[in-house]
Amino acid sequence: MATKNRDYLFYELTNSICSVCLRKVEAKVIIQDDKVYLSKYCFTHGPEKVLISDDVEYYKQCRQFIKPSEMPQRWNTPIKYGCPYDCGLCPDHEQHSCLTLLEITDRCNLQCPICYADSSSAPHKSHRSMEDIEYMLDAIVKNEGEADIVQISGGEPTLHPHFFEILDLAKSKPIKHIMVNTNGVKIAQDKTFAEKLAQYMPGFELYVQFDSFKADTLTSLRGKDLTAIRQQALAHLNEHNVSTTLVVTVKKGWNDDEIGKIIDFALQQKAVRGVTFQPIQSAGRLEDFDPKLDRLTLSEVRRNIITQSDVFSEKDMIPVPCHPDCLAMGYALKLEGDVIPLTQFIEPDSLLEGQRNTIVFEQDEQMKEKVFNLFSTSHSPASSAASLKDLLCCLPKVSAPPSISYDHVFRVLIMQFLDPYNFDIRSVKKSCVHIAHPDGRIIPFDTYNIFYRDGLESQLQQIISGSSS
Ligand code: SF4
Ligand code: SF4
Ligand SMILES: [Zn+2]
Repeated sequence: MATKNRDYLFYELTNSICSVCLRKVEAKVIIQDDKVYLSKYCFTHGPEKVLISDDVEYYKQCRQFIKPSEMPQRWNTPIKYGCPYDCGLCPDHEQHSCLTLLEITDRCNLQCPICYADSSSAPHKSHRSMEDIEYMLDAIVKNEGEADIVQISGGEPTLHPHFFEILDLAKSKPIKHIMVNTNGVKIAQDKTFAEKLAQYMPGFELYVQFDSFKADTLTSLRGKDLTAIRQQALAHLNEHNVSTTLVVTVKKGWNDDEIGKIIDFALQQKAVRGVTFQPIQSAGRLEDFDPKLDRLTLSEVRRNIITQSDVFSEKDMIPVPCHPDCLAMGYALKLEGDVIPLTQFIEPDSLLEGQRNTIVFEQDEQMKEKVFNLFSTSHSPASSAASLKDLLCCLPKVSAPPSISYDHVFRVLIMQFLDPYNFDIRSVKKSCVHIAHPDGRIIPFDTYNIFYRDGLESQLQQIISGSSS
Protein backbone atom coordinates (compact mmCIF):
# COMPACT_ATOMS: atom_id res chain seq x y z
CA MET A 1 0.00 0.00 0.00
CA ALA A 2 1.32 3.45 -0.89
CA THR A 3 2.10 5.75 1.98
CA LYS A 4 0.89 9.32 2.23
CA ASN A 5 2.46 12.37 3.80
CA ARG A 6 0.95 13.32 7.14
CA ASP A 7 -1.60 16.10 7.18
CA TYR A 8 -0.55 17.01 10.72
CA LEU A 9 2.56 17.86 12.71
CA PHE A 10 3.71 15.16 15.16
CA TYR A 11 4.59 17.33 18.17
CA GLU A 12 5.40 14.85 20.96
CA LEU A 13 4.54 11.51 22.51
CA THR A 14 2.80 10.81 25.79
CA ASN A 15 0.65 8.13 27.42
CA SER A 16 -3.08 8.24 27.85
CA ILE A 17 -5.90 5.77 28.52
CA CYS A 18 -8.46 4.32 26.12
CA SER A 19 -11.77 6.05 26.84
CA VAL A 20 -13.59 2.70 26.51
CA CYS A 21 -11.52 0.21 28.51
CA LEU A 22 -9.40 2.72 30.52
CA ARG A 23 -6.25 0.75 29.75
CA LYS A 24 -3.04 2.63 29.24
CA VAL A 25 -2.32 3.48 25.60
CA GLU A 26 0.35 5.44 23.78
CA ALA A 27 -0.77 8.85 22.52
CA LYS A 28 0.74 11.19 19.97
CA VAL A 29 0.23 14.89 20.51
CA ILE A 30 -0.44 16.23 17.03
CA ILE A 31 -1.08 19.70 15.64
CA GLN A 32 -3.58 19.94 12.84
CA ASP A 33 -5.53 22.93 11.46
CA ASP A 34 -4.32 25.17 14.32
CA LYS A 35 -5.58 22.78 16.96
CA VAL A 36 -3.87 20.29 19.27
CA TYR A 37 -5.14 16.70 19.47
CA LEU A 38 -4.29 13.52 21.33
CA SER A 39 -4.11 10.70 18.83
CA LYS A 40 -4.34 7.36 20.66
CA TYR A 41 -4.52 3.74 19.69
CA CYS A 42 -6.00 0.94 21.79
CA PHE A 43 -5.31 -2.58 20.54
CA THR A 44 -8.87 -3.59 21.46
CA HIS A 45 -10.84 -0.44 20.66
CA GLY A 46 -8.83 1.10 17.86
CA PRO A 47 -7.87 4.71 17.16
CA GLU A 48 -9.20 7.73 19.01
CA LYS A 49 -8.57 11.41 18.32
CA VAL A 50 -9.38 13.96 21.03
CA LEU A 51 -9.21 17.76 20.89
CA ILE A 52 -7.07 19.03 23.77
CA SER A 53 -6.48 22.68 22.83
CA ASP A 54 -7.70 25.05 20.18
CA ASP A 55 -4.79 27.43 20.74
CA VAL A 56 -1.45 26.03 19.58
CA GLU A 57 0.61 28.98 20.83
CA TYR A 58 -0.92 28.81 24.30
CA TYR A 59 -0.40 25.03 24.41
CA LYS A 60 3.29 25.56 23.66
CA GLN A 61 3.51 28.49 26.10
CA CYS A 62 2.40 26.22 28.95
CA ARG A 63 5.71 24.37 28.64
CA GLN A 64 7.57 27.56 29.51
CA PHE A 65 5.64 27.74 32.76
CA ILE A 66 6.98 24.64 34.39
CA LYS A 67 8.63 25.14 37.74
CA PRO A 68 10.45 22.61 39.91
CA SER A 69 7.96 20.32 41.66
CA GLU A 70 7.22 20.74 45.33
CA MET A 71 6.90 17.41 47.13
CA PRO A 72 4.55 16.31 49.90
CA GLN A 73 6.14 15.19 53.17
CA ARG A 74 5.24 11.53 52.65
CA TRP A 75 3.84 9.17 50.02
CA ASN A 76 0.70 7.12 50.58
CA THR A 77 1.10 4.16 48.21
CA PRO A 78 3.96 2.23 46.60
CA ILE A 79 4.64 2.12 42.87
CA LYS A 80 3.18 -1.21 41.83
CA TYR A 81 1.24 -1.14 38.56
CA GLY A 82 2.43 2.15 37.05
CA CYS A 83 0.69 5.49 36.64
CA PRO A 84 -2.30 6.09 36.78
CA TYR A 85 -3.09 2.86 38.67
CA ASP A 86 -1.07 3.56 41.84
CA CYS A 87 -2.82 6.61 43.33
CA GLY A 88 -1.73 7.78 45.58
CA LEU A 89 0.06 9.82 46.15
CA CYS A 90 2.72 7.39 44.94
CA PRO A 91 6.41 8.35 44.82
CA ASP A 92 6.14 8.94 41.08
CA HIS A 93 3.86 11.95 41.52
CA GLU A 94 5.34 15.35 40.70
CA GLN A 95 3.42 17.86 42.80
CA HIS A 96 2.22 18.17 46.39
CA SER A 97 -1.39 19.05 47.22
CA CYS A 98 -2.02 22.75 46.64
CA LEU A 99 -5.68 22.07 47.35
CA THR A 100 -7.18 18.95 48.91
CA LEU A 101 -10.89 18.21 48.82
CA LEU A 102 -12.59 16.54 51.75
CA GLU A 103 -16.06 15.18 51.06
CA ILE A 104 -18.04 15.14 54.30
CA THR A 105 -21.38 13.92 52.96
CA ASP A 106 -23.07 12.23 50.00
CA ARG A 107 -26.33 14.01 50.63
CA CYS A 108 -27.47 17.06 48.74
CA ASN A 109 -30.51 19.31 48.54
CA LEU A 110 -30.14 19.46 44.76
CA GLN A 111 -29.86 16.72 42.20
CA CYS A 112 -27.79 18.24 39.41
CA PRO A 113 -27.70 16.25 36.18
CA ILE A 114 -23.96 17.03 35.95
CA CYS A 115 -23.02 15.91 39.49
CA TYR A 116 -19.77 13.93 39.41
CA ALA A 117 -20.40 12.70 42.97
CA ASP A 118 -23.88 11.44 42.11
CA SER A 119 -25.21 13.21 45.20
CA SER A 120 -28.89 13.56 46.09
CA SER A 121 -31.34 13.40 48.97
CA ALA A 122 -31.95 9.66 48.38
CA PRO A 123 -32.20 7.77 51.70
CA HIS A 124 -29.13 5.61 51.06
CA LYS A 125 -26.92 8.71 50.81
CA SER A 126 -25.16 9.39 54.09
CA HIS A 127 -23.08 11.82 56.10
CA ARG A 128 -19.52 10.93 56.99
CA SER A 129 -18.80 10.39 60.70
CA MET A 130 -16.70 12.83 62.74
CA GLU A 131 -14.13 10.05 63.32
CA ASP A 132 -13.72 9.48 59.60
CA ILE A 133 -13.51 13.20 58.93
CA GLU A 134 -10.81 13.71 61.53
CA TYR A 135 -8.88 10.73 60.16
CA MET A 136 -9.00 12.23 56.66
CA LEU A 137 -8.02 15.71 57.88
CA ASP A 138 -5.06 14.19 59.69
CA ALA A 139 -4.06 12.31 56.55
CA ILE A 140 -3.98 15.61 54.63
CA VAL A 141 -1.95 17.27 57.34
CA LYS A 142 0.49 14.35 57.55
CA ASN A 143 1.10 14.66 53.81
CA GLU A 144 1.58 18.40 53.86
CA GLY A 145 2.91 19.36 57.26
CA GLU A 146 0.98 22.58 56.98
CA ALA A 147 -1.69 22.20 54.29
CA ASP A 148 -2.22 25.10 51.88
CA ILE A 149 -5.95 24.73 51.21
CA VAL A 150 -8.51 22.18 52.34
CA GLN A 151 -11.83 22.41 50.57
CA ILE A 152 -14.75 20.96 52.53
CA SER A 153 -17.04 19.47 49.93
CA GLY A 154 -19.78 16.90 49.35
CA GLY A 155 -22.60 16.38 48.44
CA GLU A 156 -23.69 19.60 50.02
CA PRO A 157 -21.45 20.07 53.08
CA THR A 158 -23.75 22.57 54.82
CA LEU A 159 -26.30 19.75 55.29
CA HIS A 160 -23.99 17.81 57.59
CA PRO A 161 -25.55 17.90 61.10
CA HIS A 162 -22.09 18.65 62.57
CA PHE A 163 -21.07 21.15 59.89
CA PHE A 164 -19.81 23.85 62.26
CA GLU A 165 -18.02 21.30 64.45
CA ILE A 166 -16.24 20.13 61.33
CA LEU A 167 -15.16 23.69 60.57
CA ASP A 168 -13.93 24.06 64.17
CA LEU A 169 -12.02 20.82 63.83
CA ALA A 170 -10.44 21.90 60.52
CA LYS A 171 -9.55 25.26 62.05
CA SER A 172 -7.75 23.50 64.89
CA LYS A 173 -5.39 21.76 62.42
CA PRO A 174 -2.38 23.28 60.66
CA ILE A 175 -4.24 24.35 57.52
CA LYS A 176 -3.63 27.80 56.00
CA HIS A 177 -6.91 28.19 54.21
CA ILE A 178 -10.26 26.43 54.55
CA MET A 179 -12.81 26.57 51.78
CA VAL A 180 -16.38 25.32 51.72
CA ASN A 181 -17.74 24.20 48.39
CA THR A 182 -21.47 24.91 48.41
CA ASN A 183 -24.49 25.29 46.15
CA GLY A 184 -25.61 28.25 48.30
CA VAL A 185 -29.13 26.96 49.04
CA LYS A 186 -28.68 26.87 52.80
CA ILE A 187 -27.01 30.29 52.83
CA ALA A 188 -29.92 31.73 50.85
CA GLN A 189 -32.52 30.21 53.14
CA ASP A 190 -30.95 31.06 56.48
CA LYS A 191 -29.55 34.53 57.02
CA THR A 192 -27.83 33.64 60.29
CA PHE A 193 -25.82 30.98 58.46
CA ALA A 194 -23.70 33.58 56.62
CA GLU A 195 -23.19 35.42 59.88
CA LYS A 196 -21.85 32.27 61.52
CA LEU A 197 -19.61 31.55 58.52
CA ALA A 198 -18.10 35.05 58.75
CA GLN A 199 -16.67 34.15 62.15
CA TYR A 200 -14.29 31.68 60.51
CA MET A 201 -12.42 34.36 58.61
CA PRO A 202 -9.57 35.03 57.97
CA GLY A 203 -8.22 31.93 56.30
CA PHE A 204 -11.72 30.95 55.27
CA GLU A 205 -13.57 31.21 51.99
CA LEU A 206 -16.70 29.96 50.28
CA TYR A 207 -16.79 28.41 46.84
CA VAL A 208 -20.32 29.11 45.67
CA GLN A 209 -21.90 27.70 42.51
CA PHE A 210 -22.86 30.46 40.09
CA ASP A 211 -23.29 29.15 36.57
CA SER A 212 -25.56 31.46 34.68
CA PHE A 213 -28.11 34.25 34.62
CA LYS A 214 -30.36 32.17 32.34
CA ALA A 215 -33.16 30.03 33.76
CA ASP A 216 -32.90 27.36 31.04
CA THR A 217 -29.14 27.00 31.49
CA LEU A 218 -29.54 26.63 35.25
CA THR A 219 -32.21 24.03 34.69
CA SER A 220 -29.97 22.13 32.28
CA LEU A 221 -27.00 22.15 34.67
CA ARG A 222 -28.66 22.05 38.07
CA GLY A 223 -32.09 20.55 37.48
CA LYS A 224 -33.91 23.76 38.43
CA ASP A 225 -33.90 27.53 38.06
CA LEU A 226 -31.77 28.72 40.96
CA THR A 227 -31.68 32.42 40.01
CA ALA A 228 -33.48 33.66 43.13
CA ILE A 229 -31.49 31.33 45.41
CA ARG A 230 -28.18 32.59 44.02
CA GLN A 231 -29.12 36.25 44.41
CA GLN A 232 -30.32 35.69 47.97
CA ALA A 233 -27.22 33.74 48.96
CA LEU A 234 -24.98 36.51 47.60
CA ALA A 235 -26.99 39.19 49.40
CA HIS A 236 -26.36 37.37 52.69
CA LEU A 237 -22.67 36.85 51.95
CA ASN A 238 -22.22 40.50 50.94
CA GLU A 239 -23.92 41.63 54.10
CA HIS A 240 -21.38 39.79 56.23
CA ASN A 241 -18.49 40.18 53.75
CA VAL A 242 -17.71 36.46 53.77
CA SER A 243 -14.83 35.84 51.30
CA THR A 244 -16.45 34.16 48.32
CA THR A 245 -15.35 32.72 45.00
CA LEU A 246 -18.04 32.12 42.42
CA VAL A 247 -17.67 28.78 40.67
CA VAL A 248 -18.94 28.51 37.14
CA THR A 249 -19.34 25.14 35.48
CA VAL A 250 -19.00 26.04 31.82
CA LYS A 251 -20.91 23.98 29.31
CA LYS A 252 -20.45 24.60 25.61
CA GLY A 253 -23.45 26.28 24.02
CA TRP A 254 -25.14 26.95 27.35
CA ASN A 255 -23.16 29.53 29.31
CA ASP A 256 -19.84 30.06 27.50
CA ASP A 257 -21.29 33.36 26.22
CA GLU A 258 -21.85 34.63 29.79
CA ILE A 259 -18.25 34.51 31.02
CA GLY A 260 -17.61 38.28 30.73
CA LYS A 261 -20.95 39.11 32.26
CA ILE A 262 -20.29 36.86 35.26
CA ILE A 263 -16.85 38.47 35.83
CA ASP A 264 -18.40 41.95 35.69
CA PHE A 265 -21.13 40.88 38.09
CA ALA A 266 -18.59 39.30 40.46
CA LEU A 267 -16.54 42.50 40.52
CA GLN A 268 -19.58 44.39 41.79
CA GLN A 269 -20.11 42.04 44.75
CA LYS A 270 -18.45 43.17 47.95
CA ALA A 271 -17.79 39.65 49.23
CA VAL A 272 -16.63 38.11 45.96
CA ARG A 273 -12.87 37.67 45.55
CA GLY A 274 -12.88 35.88 42.24
CA VAL A 275 -14.43 33.49 39.78
CA THR A 276 -13.34 29.94 38.98
CA PHE A 277 -14.37 28.50 35.63
CA GLN A 278 -14.53 24.74 35.25
CA PRO A 279 -15.20 23.48 31.72
CA ILE A 280 -17.29 20.30 31.57
CA GLN A 281 -17.69 17.87 28.78
CA SER A 282 -21.23 16.86 28.14
CA ALA A 283 -23.38 16.21 25.15
CA GLY A 284 -26.45 17.85 26.66
CA ARG A 285 -29.07 18.64 24.10
CA LEU A 286 -26.52 19.68 21.51
CA GLU A 287 -27.04 17.72 18.35
CA ASP A 288 -24.15 15.82 16.84
CA PHE A 289 -22.00 16.32 19.95
CA ASP A 290 -18.86 14.17 19.90
CA PRO A 291 -17.13 14.15 23.34
CA LYS A 292 -13.82 13.56 21.59
CA LEU A 293 -13.92 16.44 19.14
CA ASP A 294 -16.55 18.96 20.29
CA ARG A 295 -14.94 19.53 23.65
CA LEU A 296 -14.79 22.75 25.60
CA THR A 297 -11.08 23.17 26.24
CA LEU A 298 -9.26 25.37 28.72
CA SER A 299 -7.92 27.44 25.81
CA GLU A 300 -11.44 28.22 24.64
CA VAL A 301 -12.57 29.34 28.10
CA ARG A 302 -9.42 31.48 28.30
CA ARG A 303 -10.21 33.11 24.97
CA ASN A 304 -13.77 33.77 26.12
CA ILE A 305 -12.44 35.53 29.23
CA ILE A 306 -10.11 37.68 27.13
CA THR A 307 -12.72 38.62 24.52
CA GLN A 308 -15.71 38.99 26.82
CA SER A 309 -14.08 40.80 29.77
CA ASP A 310 -12.74 44.36 29.74
CA VAL A 311 -10.40 43.61 32.63
CA PHE A 312 -8.30 40.63 31.59
CA SER A 313 -6.15 40.62 28.47
CA GLU A 314 -4.08 37.87 26.90
CA LYS A 315 -1.07 38.83 29.07
CA ASP A 316 -3.18 38.55 32.22
CA MET A 317 -4.41 34.99 31.76
CA ILE A 318 -1.34 32.83 32.20
CA PRO A 319 -0.64 29.16 32.94
CA VAL A 320 -0.28 28.32 36.64
CA PRO A 321 3.26 26.99 37.05
CA CYS A 322 2.51 24.02 39.31
CA HIS A 323 0.11 22.47 36.76
CA PRO A 324 0.15 24.59 33.60
CA ASP A 325 -1.84 22.17 31.40
CA CYS A 326 -4.91 22.34 33.60
CA LEU A 327 -4.82 25.68 35.43
CA ALA A 328 -4.72 29.24 34.11
CA MET A 329 -5.11 32.35 36.18
CA GLY A 330 -5.36 36.09 36.16
CA TYR A 331 -5.20 38.48 39.10
CA ALA A 332 -6.55 41.98 39.44
CA LEU A 333 -6.50 44.51 42.22
CA LYS A 334 -9.70 46.18 43.29
CA LEU A 335 -8.54 49.59 44.43
CA GLU A 336 -10.81 52.51 45.24
CA GLY A 337 -13.49 51.54 42.79
CA ASP A 338 -11.08 50.66 39.97
CA VAL A 339 -10.05 47.23 38.80
CA ILE A 340 -6.46 46.91 37.66
CA PRO A 341 -5.18 43.69 36.10
CA LEU A 342 -2.16 42.51 38.00
CA THR A 343 -0.76 39.37 36.41
CA GLN A 344 0.90 41.26 33.58
CA PHE A 345 2.99 43.10 36.17
CA ILE A 346 4.38 39.93 37.71
CA GLU A 347 7.73 39.11 36.14
CA PRO A 348 7.32 35.71 34.44
CA ASP A 349 10.61 34.54 35.93
CA SER A 350 9.32 35.17 39.42
CA LEU A 351 6.54 32.70 38.83
CA LEU A 352 9.02 29.99 38.00
CA GLU A 353 11.79 30.57 40.50
CA GLY A 354 9.51 29.84 43.40
CA GLN A 355 11.00 32.42 45.73
CA ARG A 356 10.04 35.81 46.99
CA ASN A 357 9.87 38.35 44.21
CA THR A 358 8.38 41.73 43.63
CA ILE A 359 5.43 42.82 41.62
CA VAL A 360 6.71 45.48 39.28
CA PHE A 361 3.80 47.77 39.90
CA GLU A 362 6.07 50.77 39.33
CA GLN A 363 5.71 50.10 35.61
CA ASP A 364 2.21 51.43 35.57
CA GLU A 365 1.59 54.98 36.70
CA GLN A 366 -2.07 54.48 37.51
CA MET A 367 -1.37 51.38 39.54
CA LYS A 368 1.51 53.05 41.35
CA GLU A 369 -0.66 55.96 42.36
CA LYS A 370 -3.44 53.70 43.60
CA VAL A 371 -1.08 51.54 45.60
CA PHE A 372 0.60 54.54 47.21
CA ASN A 373 -2.78 55.96 48.02
CA LEU A 374 -3.74 52.74 49.65
CA PHE A 375 -0.52 52.78 51.66
CA SER A 376 -1.33 56.08 53.19
CA THR A 377 -4.97 55.48 53.99
CA SER A 378 -5.14 51.91 55.15
CA HIS A 379 -4.66 51.19 58.82
CA SER A 380 -6.58 47.99 59.23
CA PRO A 381 -4.65 45.18 60.96
CA ALA A 382 -6.16 42.73 58.48
CA SER A 383 -4.38 44.50 55.66
CA SER A 384 -0.87 43.65 56.69
CA ALA A 385 -0.48 40.78 54.24
CA ALA A 386 3.07 40.70 53.01
CA SER A 387 2.88 38.34 50.09
CA LEU A 388 0.34 37.18 47.59
CA LYS A 389 1.45 33.62 48.17
CA ASP A 390 0.17 33.91 51.71
CA LEU A 391 -3.20 34.91 50.32
CA LEU A 392 -3.49 32.72 47.30
CA CYS A 393 -2.67 29.25 46.20
CA CYS A 394 -0.34 28.33 43.35
CA LEU A 395 1.78 31.48 43.34
CA PRO A 396 5.37 31.79 44.46
CA LYS A 397 6.21 34.32 47.11
CA VAL A 398 5.38 37.50 45.27
CA SER A 399 5.80 40.50 47.52
CA ALA A 400 2.88 42.85 47.61
CA PRO A 401 2.76 46.22 49.30
CA PRO A 402 1.87 45.55 52.93
CA SER A 403 -1.49 47.24 52.68
CA ILE A 404 -2.83 44.98 49.97
CA SER A 405 -5.09 42.43 51.61
CA TYR A 406 -7.42 39.72 50.51
CA ASP A 407 -10.16 42.33 50.19
CA HIS A 408 -8.35 43.93 47.26
CA VAL A 409 -7.43 40.83 45.29
CA PHE A 410 -9.66 39.45 42.58
CA ARG A 411 -8.72 36.22 40.89
CA VAL A 412 -9.98 34.51 37.79
CA LEU A 413 -9.00 30.86 37.56
CA ILE A 414 -9.68 28.24 34.92
CA MET A 415 -9.55 24.75 36.35
CA GLN A 416 -9.75 21.94 33.84
CA PHE A 417 -9.92 18.30 34.85
CA LEU A 418 -8.70 15.34 32.89
CA ASP A 419 -11.25 12.72 31.85
CA PRO A 420 -10.82 9.41 29.99
CA TYR A 421 -10.70 11.33 26.69
CA ASN A 422 -8.10 14.05 27.29
CA PHE A 423 -6.17 12.03 29.88
CA ASP A 424 -2.44 12.74 29.59
CA ILE A 425 -0.18 10.91 32.02
CA ARG A 426 2.55 13.55 31.64
CA SER A 427 0.04 16.10 32.87
CA VAL A 428 -1.75 14.11 35.57
CA LYS A 429 1.52 13.55 37.42
CA LYS A 430 1.61 17.31 38.04
CA SER A 431 -1.95 17.49 39.33
CA CYS A 432 -2.08 19.62 42.49
CA VAL A 433 -5.83 19.38 43.17
CA HIS A 434 -6.28 16.24 45.23
CA ILE A 435 -8.99 14.54 47.25
CA ALA A 436 -8.78 12.67 50.53
CA HIS A 437 -9.85 9.03 50.25
CA PRO A 438 -11.60 7.71 53.39
CA ASP A 439 -8.77 5.18 53.81
CA GLY A 440 -6.17 7.95 54.10
CA ARG A 441 -4.85 8.01 50.56
CA ILE A 442 -4.57 11.43 48.89
CA ILE A 443 -5.54 11.02 45.24
CA PRO A 444 -5.45 13.41 42.27
CA PHE A 445 -9.02 14.59 41.71
CA ASP A 446 -8.89 13.59 38.04
CA THR A 447 -7.91 9.97 38.63
CA TYR A 448 -10.22 9.68 41.64
CA ASN A 449 -13.27 10.24 39.48
CA ILE A 450 -12.09 7.78 36.83
CA PHE A 451 -10.67 4.96 38.95
CA TYR A 452 -10.99 5.37 42.71
CA ARG A 453 -14.38 6.80 43.66
CA ASP A 454 -16.71 4.39 45.54
CA GLY A 455 -17.41 1.31 43.41
CA LEU A 456 -14.93 2.19 40.67
CA GLU A 457 -12.01 0.57 42.38
CA SER A 458 -13.30 -2.94 41.77
CA GLN A 459 -13.07 -2.26 38.02
CA LEU A 460 -9.53 -1.06 38.49
CA GLN A 461 -8.34 -4.58 39.31
CA GLN A 462 -9.82 -5.84 36.04
CA ILE A 463 -8.17 -3.03 34.10
CA ILE A 464 -4.82 -3.77 35.71
CA SER A 465 -5.03 -7.52 35.17
CA GLY A 466 -6.29 -6.97 31.62
CA SER A 467 -3.50 -4.59 30.77
CA SER A 468 -0.83 -6.92 32.06
CA SER A 469 -2.19 -10.03 30.38
S1 SF4 B 1 -1.31 10.09 39.11
FE1 SF4 B 1 0.35 10.48 40.53
S2 SF4 B 1 -0.20 9.35 42.38
FE2 SF4 B 1 -1.44 8.54 40.71
S3 SF4 B 1 -0.25 6.79 39.96
FE3 SF4 B 1 0.28 8.58 38.71
S4 SF4 B 1 2.10 9.40 39.70
FE4 SF4 B 1 1.14 8.03 41.18
S1 SF4 C 1 -25.12 20.76 44.25
FE1 SF4 C 1 -23.14 19.80 43.94
S2 SF4 C 1 -23.21 17.94 45.19
FE2 SF4 C 1 -25.33 18.66 44.98
S3 SF4 C 1 -26.11 17.50 43.23
FE3 SF4 C 1 -25.34 19.49 42.47
S4 SF4 C 1 -23.21 19.08 41.82
FE4 SF4 C 1 -23.88 17.35 43.14
ZN1 LIG D 1 -9.57 0.13 24.82
